Amino acid sequence: MEITEVQCKSILTRAGGYLREVCSHSLNPYVGCGFGQSACGVGCYVRHNAWLTKGRDWGSFVEVKTNAPEVYLQTYEAEQRWAHRRDQLFSVFFSSATEPWQPIEKQYRITRRLLQSMLAHPPDELILQTHATAMRDDLELVAALSQQCRLRVHVSIEGDTERLPGLPPPPATVAGRIELLRQLSSAGIFAVACLSPLYPMKHPAVFFEQLAEAGVDAVVIDHFIEGDGTREGSRTWKTDLPRSMESVDPESTRLAYRDRIAAIARTYLPVGISAAGFAGHYSRQ
Ligand code: SF4
Repeated sequence: MEITEVQCKSILTRAGGYLREVCSHSLNPYVGCGFGQSACGVGCYVRHNAWLTKGRDWGSFVEVKTNAPEVYLQTYEAEQRWAHRRDQLFSVFFSSATEPWQPIEKQYRITRRLLQSMLAHPPDELILQTHATAMRDDLELVAALSQQCRLRVHVSIEGDTERLPGLPPPPATVAGRIELLRQLSSAGIFAVACLSPLYPMKHPAVFFEQLAEAGVDAVVIDHFIEGDGTREGSRTWKTDLPRSMESVDPESTRLAYRDRIAAIARTYLPVGISAAGFAGHYSRQ
């Protein structure tokens, strides 16, 4: 793993593409991801972003934006004004292209320092997206922030399958991530389980009942088709993920599979589909 410290010029990126529907800005404390060679890294949409990877293998590098908290404080007012001029909330998606609580966070604490900066000067809305149970290190801070702004936490949990054939292990167990959702909910934080990308499921009804019992507020279901930034899922088709999914359930690589699972999920919880779900639009129908 190649670790580099970098000074960033900006930290709040005005949203483009599908993120426009979700937030006004994205925020990435790191470039690259220390979980890139785990299961989620195989289907990770960011690995196809040549502008970020610059030809490097996904999971082989992390750039640490050491001055990110200071740059947030220097720029949040101008970016908030920019969003408000467009009649939008100043809504920050943290993070769209990296993992805020990846292993190197324990050493650098860029995410923690950014959250502390936000506690002093919060956005209107904050969406925290994570695969990592290490997020619980900052649970009190996140709970305090949720009193200052509209906040929700998206925990990525692709389904009830612990490990897909031929793929490396995930960054955290399914049980560990359900426990994180339970802790978020107990702390009064709006907690969302994101099945993104949706894996083949063994016992969907049991799984969604378990999420509801853990206090989860909503579920996002996002198939790699329509979910990886291409209409047909063409980026993901180039990876090992679809083959592995089909070896468990051949139906799981079709969009109809997403709709079937969503119908089961709605029996237990409000459900959002793909980008609309990431934007916080859920329903029981
Ligand atoms: S943790 Fe997130 S950013 Fe990192 S490899 Fe997995 S999906 Fe990609």
